[in-house]
Amino acid sequence: MAYSRDLYQQVILDHNQNPRNYRELPHKTHQCEGHNPLCGDNVTVYVHLNDQQVCEEVSFLGSGCAISKASCSFMTTIAKGKSIQEIEKIFGQFHKMVKGELNLAEPHDLGKLTIFEGVKEYPARVKCATLAWHALTGALHSQKVTSTETENPLDSNQIEAPVLDLTGVKCPINYVKTKVRLSKMEKGEKLFVILDSGNPIKNVSKSLEADGESIHSREVLENGQYKLLVEKNS
Ligand code: ZN
Repeated sequence: MAYSRDLYQQVILDHNQNPRNYRELPHKTHQCEGHNPLCGDNVTVYVHLNDQQVCEEVSFLGSGCAISKASCSFMTTIAKGKSIQEIEKIFGQFHKMVKGELNLAEPHDLGKLTIFEGVKEYPARVKCATLAWHALTGALHSQKVTSTETENPLDSNQIEAPVLDLTGVKCPINYVKTKVRLSKMEKGEKLFVILDSGNPIKNVSKSLEADGESIHSREVLENGQYKLLVEKNS
């Protein structure tokens, strides 16, 4: 589908005036508050994640500019019925698209989200558009608060850190190897860990977070593997 400026403006207006799923979820299992200090946008995203790790329902409340609100409203309709892995993949592609770094002529999973392609013309609004997805992925990883400024997941290529490639290695060995590597590092040092999607990424992330390590970003690589940026905390 070719990008249409009219459609983009229409969708932003519509979702801003009539935000979908604009409420707190009574049966939420996860929630996260997201802030974009550059524009003053604040949203809280609520998720009901079922036993299969699929988002049964997603909703939000918040205040902010038209783009942040419309993007969040639209996000709730897209995320429903998707798994954590699917959502992270979509967020990775969405982030690239709004920064103008995705070739939409090649296969992607964005569906109707391509309506937001126009954001790439306005670099100052990229964080307004991605806030919803930061808050959603924050919620799914049990973070209470997230900000478009704290982690910069996808600017992680600017960080120089050693890389631990654990693809093809089964959990919990992944976790043990990561811990051994972290144990040799100084507090505050960072490490990239490359993992396969599915349980390895889920289990290792959870275990590291339970140990108090900071996970600054989860980037989906082209081949479906994950790149985690971990900071040693103690
Ligand atoms: Zn904004």
